[in-house]
Amino acid sequence: MKLKVIGSGSKGNAYIVHDENEALLIEAGCNFKAVKAALDFNIGKVSGCLITHEHLDHAAHAKEVLKAGIDVYCLKETAEARNLVGHRVHHLLASATYNVGNFKVLAMPVRHDVPCVCFLIHHPDTGFFPFLTDTIYCPYTFPNMSNMIVEANYGEDIIDERNDPKFLRDRILKSHMSIETCEEFLQANDLSKVNNIVLIHLSDRNSHAVDFKNKIRARTGANVHIAENGMEIEFNKTPF
Ligand SMILES: [Zn+2]
Ligand SMILES: [Zn+2]
Repeated sequence: MKLKVIGSGSKGNAYIVHDENEALLIEAGCNFKAVKAALDFNIGKVSGCLITHEHLDHAAHAKEVLKAGIDVYCLKETAEARNLVGHRVHHLLASATYNVGNFKVLAMPVRHDVPCVCFLIHHPDTGFFPFLTDTIYCPYTFPNMSNMIVEANYGEDIIDERNDPKFLRDRILKSHMSIETCEEFLQANDLSKVNNIVLIHLSDRNSHAVDFKNKIRARTGANVHIAENGMEIEFNKTPF
């Protein structure tokens, strides 16, 4: 399996976990033409699209995904906010497991400024991996992870230096995960089998990609990647 990043951050999020035969889309925040191109126009191999929440950088293009005949899995609130209807829309219930092709998906609520979930995903080739974004912190720990996709939006020191108006500062602090909170989350988990940690949704203004990568690598010893548009990495259970 491979992980391909079509877009990551406040301008639009879309990720593909795929091999030649099957694919899972995560988020629908990028132009669907770019998604199709990333799939080499093999739409037929897509088992479904998971969406964490209603914000446009995650869900703006969900209708095009549905129109392409792909099932969408999201909260009822997300479907209502983006006006997603029809038999291809699946409303996620907390703690239910969904079979999306060969991917098993568990959705759990997280702490954002609108209803939002994180996903724990399993595929025989990738092993378990969480997809966690747009949350102040992670209220869960996950056993047996082989890979991780996790938000590192801002650095607390960077925000402090900026001296932005309070409302701006509060908005970030009350809706996104800092690199420091990301580190705490990683520390709370058993990372002994983790191959890749992919840091996503970095803020253009308030992050420092090189520092973030070095910090997490020093802390964990895993392969650490910063999600960049167009990036593709091996995303398997074993490091080979
Ligand atoms: Zn976002
Ligand atoms: Zn959001």
